[in-house]
Amino acid sequence: MKNYVIGIDIGGTYIKSGIIRYDGTLVVTDKLQTPSESDPHYLVNTISCLISQMLRQTSIKRKEVIGVGIGSAGAVDRVRGEVCFAANLGIQKVPLAQLVEEETGFATKIANDANCACVGEWKFGNGKAYSDIILVTLGTGVGGGIIIGNQLFEGNCGAGGEIGHMLLYKGGRQCSCGRRGCLEAYASATALVQITLEQMKKDKFTKLWNVLDESKMITPQVVFEMSKQDKLAKKIVDEYIQNLGEGLVDLCNVFRPQAIIIGGGMSAQGENLIAPLRQYVADHIFAKDTTPPVDVLQASLGNDAGVIGAASLFVD
Ligand SMILES: [Zn+2]
Repeated sequence: MKNYVIGIDIGGTYIKSGIIRYDGTLVVTDKLQTPSESDPHYLVNTISCLISQMLRQTSIKRKEVIGVGIGSAGAVDRVRGEVCFAANLGIQKVPLAQLVEEETGFATKIANDANCACVGEWKFGNGKAYSDIILVTLGTGVGGGIIIGNQLFEGNCGAGGEIGHMLLYKGGRQCSCGRRGCLEAYASATALVQITLEQMKKDKFTKLWNVLDESKMITPQVVFEMSKQDKLAKKIVDEYIQNLGEGLVDLCNVFRPQAIIIGGGMSAQGENLIAPLRQYVADHIFAKDTTPPVDVLQASLGNDAGVIGAASLFVD
C-alpha cells in the first residue's frame, strides 16, 4: 500500500525534508545545508541523501512511497519539471524533477516553494475550507501563491504570482528585484527592521534605543511590542500595516479570493498583525458594502509549510 509522500523544500541556506502521510501529518523531518556549488548534481545528491536517511530512520519501505514533491526557490516550470532560474541557488534551466527521479527511482514533481506552501495551506492548513485563496508570506522577502477555482495559478514558466513585486510607490525604496517601490521593500520582515533603524536615527528620544542599549536586536517582534508604549514604534507599525494593507486590497480587487492567508516569520505577530490588516482590507476593498467580506487569517503550518506543501503536490 502506498501511503507516504516525501516533501523537499530547497531554500538558500537549508534543504529541508519530510515524509507525510496522505492526510498531511508529518512522520519525520530532516535537513541539510544547501550545497554552495552551482553544479546541480550536488543538489541532487543532497536530496537523495536526505531521502535515504529518512527512510532508514522510519523503516518506511520504498514501495510505500507515492513520490517526491519538491519546492524550490526561483522560477519553476511545473509542467516541464524544470528550475528555470533560481538566483540564490545559482542554477538555471535545470531539469531537477528528472534528475531526482533518475537518482532516487521515485516519481518526482516540482513547483516554486511559495506556491508549494500555498498548496499546503489549501490542502491541510487554514485554507482548507476555500476554493480561492491567496497566501502572502512575509519573511526575508514577500512571496506567496494564488489558488483560484481550486487551481494553482503560476503564470508562464512559473514566474507569475510574484506578490512582493507589485508596485506600491513609484520610485520608492530599493527592492531586491532591481526595481524601486515594490511591496516587498515595505512589507517584508527585513524591510520593517530596516525602516525602523532608519527612523530611529531621526528620533533620539524613542524608547527603541533602550533595546539596543540592552544589546538586543531590533526585530519585528520588538517593534510590535514597543508599539504599545512608544510613539515612533507605533507610527512605524501603523505605516507597515497600511502599506501591507494596500497591497492586500489590490490583490483582493484583482482576484477577489475568499481568504487571504498570512504566513512567513512575520505571522508570528498573530492577531496584533492580522486584526488590523483584516480591518484595513474590509474598509478599502472594491464594492465593500455589497460583496461578501474577504477573510484574513494566519497560516497554520508554520515552519513545516514548505515541506508539507511540496509533498502535497502528490495529494489530490
Ligand atoms: Zn521587487
